[in-house]
Amino acid sequence: MLIQKLPIDVIKLIAAGEVIDSLSAVVRELAENSLDAGAGRIVISIQPSLWRVQVADNGRGMDRDDLFLCTQAHTTSKIKDYNDLHRINTLGFRGEALHSIAQLADVKIVSRVADDCGYEICCHDNHCSTINPVAIAPGTIITVENLFKNIPLRRQANPPFKQQIKQIQTLIGQLSLCHPQVTWQLFVDDKLTLYIHGDNEIKKILSQLSKTIKYHDLTSQQITINTPEENSLSHLDLVLGLPDRLSRPRPDWVKIGLNGRVIKSPELESSIYSAFHRTLGRDRFPVIFLHLKTSPRQIDWNRHPAKAEIYLHNLDFWQEQIISAINNIFKITDNNINQKIPNSRVENILKVAENKALYHIEEKPKKIDKKESLGLINLQVIAQSRNTYIIAEHDQGMWLIEQHIAHERILYEQLQDNWQLMPLSQPIILENLLSKQIEQLTHLQLDIESFGENLWAVRNIPQMLAQRNDMADALMELSWGGNVDNAMVAVACRSAIRNGTKLTIEQMQDIVDRWKMTRNPHTCPHGRPIYLSLEESSLYRFFRRHWVLGKSHGI
Ligand code: ADP
Ligand code: MG
Repeated sequence: MLIQKLPIDVIKLIAAGEVIDSLSAVVRELAENSLDAGAGRIVISIQPSLWRVQVADNGRGMDRDDLFLCTQAHTTSKIKDYNDLHRINTLGFRGEALHSIAQLADVKIVSRVADDCGYEICCHDNHCSTINPVAIAPGTIITVENLFKNIPLRRQANPPFKQQIKQIQTLIGQLSLCHPQVTWQLFVDDKLTLYIHGDNEIKKILSQLSKTIKYHDLTSQQITINTPEENSLSHLDLVLGLPDRLSRPRPDWVKIGLNGRVIKSPELESSIYSAFHRTLGRDRFPVIFLHLKTSPRQIDWNRHPAKAEIYLHNLDFWQEQIISAINNIFKITDNNINQKIPNSRVENILKVAENKALYHIEEKPKKIDKKESLGLINLQVIAQSRNTYIIAEHDQGMWLIEQHIAHERILYEQLQDNWQLMPLSQPIILENLLSKQIEQLTHLQLDIESFGENLWAVRNIPQMLAQRNDMADALMELSWGGNVDNAMVAVACRSAIRNGTKLTIEQMQDIVDRWKMTRNPHTCPHGRPIYLSLEESSLYRFFRRHWVLGKSHGI
């Protein structure tokens, strides 16, 4: 027997309340119980018109005594006393859900632990039947029928069934991301409507949840972090869509999990957006699932009865960790440069190229300066094509890098690190400014003053622009609005090497080396991809090198 009634001081501390307000809330509570019972397979069947939900699992089950107690108020096997409130490692702990559900519906619970037979209990109208033995496999099946049968108003307050089913599908998707190893089935009126095959890799789950999310467009990382103020380790599981391949027009795939459950956390979401700032195009949102598994002491779940919102202690610390984890994923390193990530866009481009046969690559003689290449990672510039693309090769293939935006990325990050204004020996004179342009230049901390009728003198300028002969144009561009960040993008764009400029191998190698080290080498500040990687393996396939034509051809 595991279940006990909670002491009254603990009951008073748990800020709970009635949370069963929909079919989806019943599914949530039952599915979370199945997860707490260690289930690897959870089958959910709903019949909305009968207000019926059944959840079957292969978890550890309940013995005869626990079956009797589980629907009583404040009975739980998950915590015992006050001290346990600070070390909750399960999804449930209040011991309220089954009790509440049994008040609102007809409930039948069938359960079996591994070394006993199964038992069944039925609860109707606040009365529980005697317990009878039944034959089932180890695990638990809970059937809830006629939900809200005595509260028609609560039924009316629910949206149409179609929407309720959607809510349940979303909920299952969220739970499956947090518990990727579990296999889920959802039947609606006996029809299988959702099947998620459990897998240790969250990427596999994410790609099962949406047709638009392709496995190969995702990347993942697991990070271990020392928990602040505690002698314990926390884990951050991060899965995200490669920003040059996958993004969304809405923030519908920005999801945060905390200790096994998807939560709403505006604070952590804003950290995600700031990590993606200037990585995605305008009005584009990342695909990301971030799961923080930390010590229960870091969390106060009592912000919301459904535990969907939380207070996280050391919030600043966690925000920083998230931003740096995302930034780290973007970095190109010796370890991931050779990673073969099948890219359907590249395959399509190759197909188009095959049809049009329109490559004009002006190859230059390959020059390897041994001294120079030592110590650098092996991305070696070999040529420039169309005065626009830098062609660089490494062990496993070659990259086409668009020179302007690669350089723009370098300059933009330099400006972010060091936005400096420089005094000018000769002021720049601007004409015909509107008052809002003057305001904007002042807002960017430029030193501007009237210089006669319709003339203004500007006495300083962003350092990067100082050597240029189009300073007046640049200032006019900045005067048209935006914050300092927009100004940085504009300055970086203006200062970066134009496409169409001929470059020497050394100049290109310098750009490539510096670009490789940027925080996000994948996209420019406007969100465009910077490089196209042509893996040797795709080229091999493209040139049909696997064809065996016969020895005499020397293949
Ligand atoms: P809580 O989850 O907060 O403990 P519940 O009312 O949801 O409270 O469940 C009461 C108890 O019933 C749980 O603590 C657990 O011991 C037991 N229980 C509920 N569902 C299951 C299940 N599917 N498998 C095994 N035990 C279960
Ligand atoms: Mg529970």
